[in-house]
Amino acid sequence: MQHEILLQLSPKDAAQSAAITDHIAIALGIPPSKVTGFHFIKKSIDARKRSVLINIKLRAFVDEPFYATTLPPFEFPDVSRSQKRTLVIGAGPAGLFAALELIQLGIKPIVIERGKDVRERRRDLAKLNRDGILNEDSNYCFGEGGAGTYSDGKLYTRSTKRGNVEKVLQLLVHFGADPAILYTAHPHIGTNKLPGIIQAIRQQVIDAGGEVHFNEKVIDLNIVNQRIQSVETASGKRFDGNNIVLATGHSAKDIYVLLHKKQILIEAKPFALGVRIEHPQSLIDSIQYHCPPTVQRDVFLPPASYQLVEQVNGRGAFSFCMCPGGIIATASTVQKELVVNGWSPSKRNNPFANSGMVVQVGLGDVLEGMRDEGKGTRDEGRGTRDEGRGTSLLLHHFQEAVERRAYEAGGGYFVAPAQRMTDFVKGKSSSTLPDNSYLRGVVPVNMKEVLPDFVFESLQGAFKAFGKKMKGYFTEEAIIIAPESRTSSPVRIPRDPETLQHPQIKNLYPCAEGAGYAGGIVSAAMDGQRVANHLSIFSAADNFSK
Ligand SMILES: Cc1cc2nc3c(=O)[nH]c(=O)nc-3n(C[C@H](O)[C@H](O)[C@H](O)COP(=O)(O)OP(=O)(O)OC[C@H]3O[C@@H](n4cnc5c(N)ncnc54)[C@H](O)[C@@H]3O)c2cc1C
Repeated sequence: MQHEILLQLSPKDAAQSAAITDHIAIALGIPPSKVTGFHFIKKSIDARKRSVLINIKLRAFVDEPFYATTLPPFEFPDVSRSQKRTLVIGAGPAGLFAALELIQLGIKPIVIERGKDVRERRRDLAKLNRDGILNEDSNYCFGEGGAGTYSDGKLYTRSTKRGNVEKVLQLLVHFGADPAILYTAHPHIGTNKLPGIIQAIRQQVIDAGGEVHFNEKVIDLNIVNQRIQSVETASGKRFDGNNIVLATGHSAKDIYVLLHKKQILIEAKPFALGVRIEHPQSLIDSIQYHCPPTVQRDVFLPPASYQLVEQVNGRGAFSFCMCPGGIIATASTVQKELVVNGWSPSKRNNPFANSGMVVQVGLGDVLEGMRDEGKGTRDEGRGTRDEGRGTSLLLHHFQEAVERRAYEAGGGYFVAPAQRMTDFVKGKSSSTLPDNSYLRGVVPVNMKEVLPDFVFESLQGAFKAFGKKMKGYFTEEAIIIAPESRTSSPVRIPRDPETLQHPQIKNLYPCAEGAGYAGGIVSAAMDGQRVANHLSIFSAADNFSK
């Protein structure tokens, strides 16, 4: 017989199969020898009370043979001879999952990626971290696997209704991820494990007859009668396909500029901007797991995380992409523009805990700033006035201006401006800075000089509030490093809600984060799948025949 059971166990018991079996037996009132095995259904940490517990939902097998869970059989037919050819621009989570889905639908994907494969890309990251030398096409955002490859690899998403989360997670397991991501409440892969999974996905695309082209940056679109006939890359190549999935991510600023120049409709989209904050991991553990800071956390518990949100003067301020045991990285894609982000290895075993701390930014904020004579507003409006065509790129230029100011404040080579959290709230420069994980180094700067006033002031208020919510969080041991400016896209590429086609260009499918329809690995992957499915339905009649 099989039983679904809920258990609340100590972290130690939850980590050991024999102990779990004993607890199952107690719950069912049977001897442990009758339990032949179990599958986890859900596993989460409950740290609300002083003694931290692990909540487990599982399926127990009693008096019958145990069978292990298996993944659905994923089949990838040979599409090498398919007349249905779709260009997928960008090999991030969206592009790769779109490619896999297209193959399952019998369509041949031709993936075009500006960056290098994961292995070569690693060398460029080393150069960036060591010498401060940025390759604009191969960095933390660009290259095989997109921003997802050297990301933190957290796999949570709020957009569960927009696609099949389970299928994305199962595919990740199929390509090598730890099966635990299927049942843990906060699944995480880690930067060290992601590249192998991405390579396996690429191999599958190629084995099924798809194409993957690296070092091919799309720089032009050849449009005839409101259809993209082909795309051109910086190397001078031309690729054609019946449809185009545009999955270039939120850092492909040149794509926004290209669309704007071609008079293809794009719109400004609200996004969030702020800083990264880093505490000693032991401090976060002590707050979340209710132990003294001097005592190490229970060895059976993972490094603790947090999630914070506050309304300050009617504006939302919130933590974003928290990385326990992580590293703050240079996520820039353009020379002389600084942006930071965070990642962690699968074991999350670095001594620091970092998180984005950001506030919402809308078009109104920037238009208001441009009307003022205040700091930085001339700079923020500059690009838009140059373009002289409306507001669609306004937030993009606003983001760019903050990133440029941060680069200059750091003094070059991607050294970052930094400030103690307590000094940030007081509005004064720090005389010294605490140890931190940022590899390019930090210099003390008053963030008032870097951040727009409304962002700076909202964060000041939020930090005070967060200190009340999490006792010990507001501390001079915490360092603020700026800016965290690529939380989501500042531009939306519109699409028809039913067909997902661009309203002007019928064979163009704007996809995922860069188009404003996803935020994070799982939601981007789901949007890739969704676009592939819509494309197979809605373009069958017209696009594939042309
Ligand atoms: C350091 C870091 C940590 C992160 N941690 C997490 C996390 O823990 N969890 C999470 O869910 N998300 C995380 N993210 C965000 C996540 O990686 C993105 O949300 C996700 O990758 C977006 O997927 P995408 O496919 O839409 O775009 P991207 O991943 O940005 O991929 C776009 C691809 O398009 C390519 N491209 C761009 N322009 C062109 C062009 N002109 N021609 C050809 N190719 C082009 C790029 O090189 C890139 O490979 C992190 C990001 C970073 C940088």
